[in-house]
Amino acid sequence: MPEKPEVITVARKLKQHLIGLSFKNVEIYHNNVIAYPTVEEFKEKIKNKKIINIGTRGKWIVFDLESDYLLVHLRMEGRFFYRTKEDPRGKHEHVIFTLNNDQQLRYHDVRKFGKMVLISKEEANSKKPLSELGLEFDDEKLTENYLKKFYEKKNLPIKSVLLDQSIITGIGNIYADEILFLSNICPLTKAKNLTKKNRVDIIENTRAVLNAAIKEGGTTIRSYESEEGVHGLFQLKLKVHGKSKESCPECSKEIIKIQVGGRGTYYCPNCQKEKK
Ligand SMILES: [Zn+2]
Repeated sequence: MPEKPEVITVARKLKQHLIGLSFKNVEIYHNNVIAYPTVEEFKEKIKNKKIINIGTRGKWIVFDLESDYLLVHLRMEGRFFYRTKEDPRGKHEHVIFTLNNDQQLRYHDVRKFGKMVLISKEEANSKKPLSELGLEFDDEKLTENYLKKFYEKKNLPIKSVLLDQSIITGIGNIYADEILFLSNICPLTKAKNLTKKNRVDIIENTRAVLNAAIKEGGTTIRSYESEEGVHGLFQLKLKVHGKSKESCPECSKEIIKIQVGGRGTYYCPNCQKEKK
């Protein structure tokens, strides 16, 4: 699953190619990719829509089409390719947008978990998926006090609460482990038991981890573009996630793996002591 930095990297790449162009039409070969509205309405509404910006909300790529948004969630394996009309369709290319320059933007998804939504801006803020998303990591409204309001009611492990997209949106399983390690917080500590300093550290380290990953993505994605499509995955420099039985980079004790809320979770029990 791509995480927020990968989604941002993909959005930036798409923006470089697509800004100012319009959709001429769309061919849909796997109807389940279209989550909203119906396939027929989607095909009709997308015509002649101009792409004025491309950004992200949570892990959704947001195409700003003046009066509407096209939202795309890549899920596990979704990615985009640029092709010409003459290129034969690959068997995993499920949605093919033809642009007004007669180039094509093709959505490729081996596992078919990705989703697209075409919604008017008026509707978007009161309807899923955008209505249920919390603050972005770089939103200035994300403060210690904001977290406190949510956390003091949460009798759940902080690891699970960090993954709750309605509080801070865009933190996935990998970066949640990294954020908690840098903040010296045990993933099992209940959110309501965190201190003010803990909450300040979470915000600071969320920004540090995601910004570092975005920077990394911006420098490495080019190599993927031509052969493997634009998907934004890149080699991450991780401290604890995926490192069970390796030494903690801070204290050299062993990193362990546990399950928290059904998600594989890595931490150093020495640096990240549980607060009861
Ligand atoms: Zn340690």
